[in-house]
Amino acid sequence: MIRTRIAPSPTGRLHIGTVRTALFNYLYAKHHGGVYAMRIEDTDKARSKKEHEEEIIEGLAWLGIKHEEFVRQSERLPRHQELLEKLVAEDKANVSEEESKNEPGKTVSVVRLRNPSRDVTFNDIVRGDITFHTGELGDFVIARAIDDPLYHFAVVADDWDMEVTHVIRGEDHISNTTRQILIQEALGTPRPFYAHLPLILAADRSKLSKRNGATSLIEYRDEGFLPEAIVNYLALLGWNPGGNEEHYSLDDLVRLFDLDGVQKGGAVWDREKLLSVNQRWMR
Ligand code: GLU
Repeated sequence: MIRTRIAPSPTGRLHIGTVRTALFNYLYAKHHGGVYAMRIEDTDKARSKKEHEEEIIEGLAWLGIKHEEFVRQSERLPRHQELLEKLVAEDKANVSEEESKNEPGKTVSVVRLRNPSRDVTFNDIVRGDITFHTGELGDFVIARAIDDPLYHFAVVADDWDMEVTHVIRGEDHISNTTRQILIQEALGTPRPFYAHLPLILAADRSKLSKRNGATSLIEYRDEGFLPEAIVNYLALLGWNPGGNEEHYSLDDLVRLFDLDGVQKGGAVWDREKLLSVNQRWMR
């Protein structure tokens, strides 16, 4: 069975790019009769905020993107530690005493993965085969301490336990995939399928940011955009159904969506288009 997830970090407002990633994960799972899960990646204690978590949950619910499973990454720390200890016991990782980068003079016991330093190739559903040489990564850090995993390690452990079959996320994560595959191989976990979505770009083709206007879902809601219009517009941002039809409800999208319609090139944010989609939904 197909299982997807949206894995937002609650470190800021709910970005429109996260919403589009959530929508594609939801549509892909629902189209194939699978399960769509939400995992709040809140292991960065300093930057994660309850109010952001609430905004993510509320915002996606407002659009009708409903998850069937919910996981909070911080609650899985004992499991992360168990897996880190297993890797150390098997000599696939080692605890390294070194000087802290953030606090010079202080000694920390980070966990480093023993890197086999070879080529890693993975198939991306959107982009085809991608190869990285892993040598320059060295024995990279996977945990700040045995009970404090870093992002790459937590993602792999959680995707495994949640039985995620398809990792669908922004293309800014492509280079992370190599590290994550090396961790999967050390743990002996199956490799999920990957699909990296094109970034949402501003009109000048720079990365969409606050400079180019509103980037948070709630700002659009507060401006009066309808949830149906936002879903309809976001679906067309990076996905091409073929043909001229552009008016889709969430149910239509579940019926039609598949990853083979996802494009490689950046998807340009077009406020005028969003306004016109919204007007159609108002009528
Ligand atoms: N937590 C990551 C982020 O907010 C996503 C991780 C993933 O999808 O693998 O970008």
